[in-house]
Amino acid sequence: MRIALFGPPGAGKGTQATYLFEKYGVRTLSTGNLVRSEIRNEGPLGPKLASFIHDGGLVPDSIVEDLFTEKIAQFEFDQFILDGFPRTIPQAEWLTNFLDAHKAPLRKVISLSVPEEETIERLSGRRIHKLTCEPFHIVHNPPPSHIPPHLIVQRLDDRPESVTERLAVYKTVTAPIEAYYEERGLLAKVSGVGSPAQVHQRIIEALVSNSILEWA
Ligand code: AMP
Repeated sequence: MRIALFGPPGAGKGTQATYLFEKYGVRTLSTGNLVRSEIRNEGPLGPKLASFIHDGGLVPDSIVEDLFTEKIAQFEFDQFILDGFPRTIPQAEWLTNFLDAHKAPLRKVISLSVPEEETIERLSGRRIHKLTCEPFHIVHNPPPSHIPPHLIVQRLDDRPESVTERLAVYKTVTAPIEAYYEERGLLAKVSGVGSPAQVHQRIIEALVSNSILEWA
């Protein structure tokens, strides 16, 4: 399986990647996690990255591509799920060339569609575990009581002002990627509305009907 999960912030890409990992053992490469861990580990790029991410903007392509190249070396070239990458047309073109050079082109891009009001509701209620980054939602998936409250935090880019900017960036810069993959026959659109288990089932069906998985 070599796929990318695509969609607006709050579409559930990370959650669906976890479901796929649990069922098929295929690991995810999330560029958002790579950026956050660079910031957490106080790497040389940390402060610069923090300002991009906290304002809800995108990190420059060349930085994300370098982080991606470093990380993908730890993956089998036949087994990965991309989450949050590519996010610009130049990144998509770069990725096509990179994967072609490794004879490992993407087999499918699953685009999760969710109405904007719902993505806002999901992002504004999202909380994460400060150390593990495990996601929760204050209404739909509250953190269990054994986790000390001070370890449950809101991502800085989930604050209302950052969410507005992230959605605007998604619409103008990231959404055109759908057409890029559609033209190449790689796009599968899946509704991201409903419970995570329902969305997971739809993704499985899309992968089966595209001969990427053999059974549901
Ligand atoms: P995510 O966890 O995927 O929502 O990503 C969080 C933030 O990391 C984004 O809002 C961007 O600031 C940055 N980021 C993640 N992936 C990319 C990417 N492919 N290109 C540029 N910036 C990215």
